[in-house]
Amino acid sequence: MPSCFRELIAPPNGGKVVNGKSPACHVTVVGAGPYGLSSAAYLRAAGIETRVFGEPMAFWQNQMPTGMCLRSNWGASHIADPKRELTLDAYCHQNGNHVSKPIPLDRFVDYGRWYQNQAVQDLERSNVLTIDLDPRGFKLVLADGASFTSKRVIVATGISSFVRRPSQFDGIPSELASHSSEHNDLGKFKSKRVIVIGAGQSALESAALLKEAGGEVEVIARDHALKWVGLHMRLHHLGIISRMLYSKRDVGPAGISRLVALPHLFRKFPRRLQDRTAYRAIRPAGSGWLQPRLKEVTITLGRMVVSATTVGSYLLLKLNDGTERLVDHALLATGFRVDVSKYQFLSQALVKQLKVANGYPVLNRGLESSIPGLHFIGKPAAWSFGPLLGFVSGTEFAGNELVHSIGRRSGNH
Ligand SMILES: Cc1cc2nc3c(=O)[nH]c(=O)nc-3n(C[C@H](O)[C@H](O)[C@H](O)COP(=O)(O)OP(=O)(O)OC[C@H]3O[C@@H](n4cnc5c(N)ncnc54)[C@H](O)[C@@H]3O)c2cc1C
Repeated sequence: MPSCFRELIAPPNGGKVVNGKSPACHVTVVGAGPYGLSSAAYLRAAGIETRVFGEPMAFWQNQMPTGMCLRSNWGASHIADPKRELTLDAYCHQNGNHVSKPIPLDRFVDYGRWYQNQAVQDLERSNVLTIDLDPRGFKLVLADGASFTSKRVIVATGISSFVRRPSQFDGIPSELASHSSEHNDLGKFKSKRVIVIGAGQSALESAALLKEAGGEVEVIARDHALKWVGLHMRLHHLGIISRMLYSKRDVGPAGISRLVALPHLFRKFPRRLQDRTAYRAIRPAGSGWLQPRLKEVTITLGRMVVSATTVGSYLLLKLNDGTERLVDHALLATGFRVDVSKYQFLSQALVKQLKVANGYPVLNRGLESSIPGLHFIGKPAAWSFGPLLGFVSGTEFAGNELVHSIGRRSGNH
């Protein structure tokens, strides 16, 4: 074990334990999705004392539709660990499970839970209610009222707080218009007329699942043409040329994929170029394998909803071409917009001190915010380190970056 980590194994309070748990710890990871689990695995492997909180894979289990498949390919869907022992391949091998491609959601959730059992067996399945400043670092209060302090906190709580709902649907009850992340079972829309708003993977895959569940579906999107990814698979089979064009991280098209995979280089680019490249890497698009499943779905492009009103138990939508739709439901697959002030668990004092840009925390090396000791990983890190951080394939970068930074700084003390 590196000597700089030795001090971290002993809790900062000298090891006093209350109710089986130390009232102070070195690093606390809040969140148990791919980023929280992976970063905990990296920190612990480096000998850094870490507590981890959250329901494992809760966002994937509860806020994505049953029957969905991952858009990211096999190589980009491993939750990283420092020894590369907890890959999807290892999961299949150990459990005798076959996982088809594209990867089904239920298998990925099971993989994430298996990963948690291997790497973070002592995961604490509690929600963190508040995080506030404390002379010893941060004070955290849990849902059951218990509290403790932590020298550092790593926020790995994902995007579910950042739901983006178009203002036209303000005041419409959720029975008539809901965000795609409010559902894990689209089967309830059997025999219903549903409008899906959006042109990304979530919109298109939801439309396919709704149709397959027996719904009457129309997709409405502002874009004049749908965009697809993965249609040029021959470009991925050209040996060294493919490796020059595409990173195994699988974020973005040829060329951009390589740049995005190097977050330290990416962040050196002028801001405007970073923003344009990031948009190009993750613009709304569907996986090519969805195309045949959408043959029976009406797709209306170049249109947008200008108003939504309730008519009895129905929803009346007016479009910018003057046409109307009377439907049972509008499914808003309109994505997420990061705004860290919406993380309810961050105290007002923390939010006030946090340097942000476009709602994202501005991060330095080690994914550390303007508040020393407060780190953000996953999508909130994407403004500072690029779009890779919005995907599972960014977990390796995040884990290494945290260990490098936290380990080095602790060694200096
Ligand atoms: C429909 C859809 C499809 C997607 N498909 C892909 C894909 O194919 N490939 C890909 O790489 N990415 C995909 N993504 C992006 C995906 O969201 C991220 O890759 C991934 O979830 C990032 O992991 P995370 O750990 O940052 O967040 P999450 O997986 O959201 O995990 C956050 C965790 O934090 C916990 N938590 C939240 N608040 C608290 C609290 N106060 N206290 C304790 N715990 C808390 C939650 O319970 C959850 O377990 C998709 C996203 C959507 C919406």
